[in-house]
Amino acid sequence: MSKLYDLIIIGSGPAGLSAAIYAERARFETLIIEKNYISGGQILNTYEVDNYPGLPGISGYDLGVKLREHVDQLGAEFQEAEVNQIISKDDCKEVVTNKGTFSAKTVIIATGARHRLLGVTGEREFTGNGVSYCATCDGAFFKDKDVAVVGGGDVAVEDAIFLARMCKKVYVIHRRDELRAAKSLQEKLVAQENVEIIWDTVVESINGKDAVESLTLKNVKDEVEKSIDIEGIFVAIGILPNSHAFQEIVEMDGHGYIIAGEECTTSIPGIFAVGDVRTKSLRQIITAASDGAVAVTSVQDFLNH
Ligand code: NAP
Repeated sequence: MSKLYDLIIIGSGPAGLSAAIYAERARFETLIIEKNYISGGQILNTYEVDNYPGLPGISGYDLGVKLREHVDQLGAEFQEAEVNQIISKDDCKEVVTNKGTFSAKTVIIATGARHRLLGVTGEREFTGNGVSYCATCDGAFFKDKDVAVVGGGDVAVEDAIFLARMCKKVYVIHRRDELRAAKSLQEKLVAQENVEIIWDTVVESINGKDAVESLTLKNVKDEVEKSIDIEGIFVAIGILPNSHAFQEIVEMDGHGYIIAGEECTTSIPGIFAVGDVRTKSLRQIITAASDGAVAVTSVQDFLNH
């Protein structure tokens, strides 16, 4: 029979890695299953994390690596694999992956979220040829060029500020007349001389021959269409939970977030959900890390009963 772990953590973003730190310190036999190195890690795409206590201005990548090194120092066991399903049995949970099945008494789901797509003509066709979802990864390709960022949340505004340092002009295209991003970020954005916000506007299509050349935009108030010439478009319109593999087992809300409260307990005893993949009001690195700690306490309570 294969090894029975106390705990399997699925995902290695801030939520999963924080859970791993607490689990190792609690001396649980723990396995962390990750799709690839620091997977579930939207953090890797964040240029600057300015609100994690004690580490002002740290890059998302550096913070992710520090978290990973912390877990490695504690001697944690990692397995690279893609999880397809969890099966709940009387005495254990089976985590079915493309590299085999792993068993544990408890499971923490920490699979995070991924970017939402615009769903317009040209988006798929030009992904990698002018359409990007990661300004920190791809921004340098657009040095001294005109680009657009779509969205009005923290990520869109952070991306626009980042791109303004290297691009000639940055358009921010937002569907409303007010940004959702933190006020401190908004202040930084409007201080950039080469940023123009296009309000009340959506992208109708992304156009070009071999790569992106222009966008067709529509004003949602007066329905007037116009075109702008740009060479890059950065889509930052929010996130979708990575919960597909668990839809047969735990209850989810209408948006696919796993229903779990502050204790991180799900509808199935012994299965917990942490970070961006669970229902919660504030999705930040600090709340993901906090979930990891709380969930291990819940695991402890479960194992003691
Ligand atoms: P978000 O806060 O959900 O914002 C998404 C933005 O995209 C909103 O402005 C929304 O418009 C717009 N949008 C959504 N669907 C759209 C569509 N189909 N077409 C056009 N626009 C659309 O997402 P996010 O900025 O990716 O942030 C995700 C989460 O990560 C948030 O909870 C955020 O606070 C968090 N975050 C945290 C940190 C940090 O801890 N430092 C950094 C970055 C992000 P409306 O405003 O009209 O809804």
